Amino acid sequence: MAGRGVGDGERRCHHGTASLASLIDEEAKMEKMERPRVRYGCAAQSKKGEDYFLIRTNCQRVPGSPSSSFSVFAVLDGHNGNAAAIYTRDNLLNHVMSAIPEGLDREEWLQALPRALVAGFVKTDKEFQRKGQTSGTTATFVVIDGWTVTVASVGDSRCILDAQGGLVSALTVDHRLEENDEERKRVTASGGEVGRLSIAGGSEIGPLRCWPGGLCLSRSIGDMDVGEFIVPVPYVKQVKLPNAGGRLIIASDGIWDALTSEMAANSCRGLPAELAARQVVQEALRMRGLKDDTTCIVIDVTQADRSEPSPAMPKKTNKLKSLIFRKMSKDSPKKLTKKLSAVGIVEELFEEGSAMLAERLGKDLLAAKTSNMFTCAVCQADITPRENVSIFSTKSLPWEAPFLCTDCCNKKDAMEGKRPSGVKVL
Ligand SMILES: [Zn+2]
Repeated sequence: MAGRGVGDGERRCHHGTASLASLIDEEAKMEKMERPRVRYGCAAQSKKGEDYFLIRTNCQRVPGSPSSSFSVFAVLDGHNGNAAAIYTRDNLLNHVMSAIPEGLDREEWLQALPRALVAGFVKTDKEFQRKGQTSGTTATFVVIDGWTVTVASVGDSRCILDAQGGLVSALTVDHRLEENDEERKRVTASGGEVGRLSIAGGSEIGPLRCWPGGLCLSRSIGDMDVGEFIVPVPYVKQVKLPNAGGRLIIASDGIWDALTSEMAANSCRGLPAELAARQVVQEALRMRGLKDDTTCIVIDVTQADRSEPSPAMPKKTNKLKSLIFRKMSKDSPKKLTKKLSAVGIVEELFEEGSAMLAERLGKDLLAAKTSNMFTCAVCQADITPRENVSIFSTKSLPWEAPFLCTDCCNKKDAMEGKRPSGVKVL
């Protein structure tokens, strides 16, 4: 076999020794027809200079292999300064990527992504807090690989999906104390006090906030000076778009305080992405004026071989299409999946919003297969066998993967309210 290139003979030996590169080539061939076109536009109006965004359209799952490419879009809305937003823009993607084991095929990679997003968000928060800066930021981070869209978010920037037929749905939840009852309960249970700002005379004003700190978000990155129950653990949702495609709109609350999800989608329907982003910002300014930093990214995911891209064109909506979201059980056959995508149903692959790290990083077969006893599941730091702590509480098997380093374990306890308040863990 010496000196022979990657020929048919070699490619046939699939199960044994085929190189990763040749597997990727095969994969690429199979998916060529299925790869969508991704078009995007971005618009922003600044008031405080604390909104930032990230657009990377040529990331590679396997470095050096263009067929393994994927795109990343993110909106970061900072508060109490811009340092956390800038740090997150510049580091979150790397922290997520470093939490994905090497050598996975595309299916496995997509499956590992939700977990890696959780680790990446927590690591970014931890690393930023080490700098001793007090600012914080929302983060709405979107990965598009083929027709699969994975969204991770903390705070109140939002990502919505406008699918063919004009059905608008949220791919994130707002982590605002005022509007999120579940989060209010969690914060209170782990030692935070939730209330409004009191002004002289005793009357209360403004939205519900968490004390100490007075933040109205229940999750964020940074925010070293607020309670540790303001956590960086993101809500994550993964969907597969139908071949008809769809439009994603990611924006900071400068948009969402002025427009509902439907209003934003309706205001730009039929426009190409670049114009659409500008239109959404214009519409928000028209409704409310420039009260806050206002940032919007519009992304159209459409079939690549269509001569005329039709980004979520208005259609006479068939009422029956409102069964758009269809939950799939984990073991449902792939054939069914294909059929659903073809008839225009957005297929939900993954959704999890818990703030508990053990629920987010543990009990995952793929993770168990690939996790390393000597690497921290959050920050990937090397850990000594003596130091490693299972992410599960001590009453379950203490040697059960995944493991955390001492630092990350302390952070996990703090986020769950298991440390006396006032003790900061960096
Ligand atoms: Zn760690």
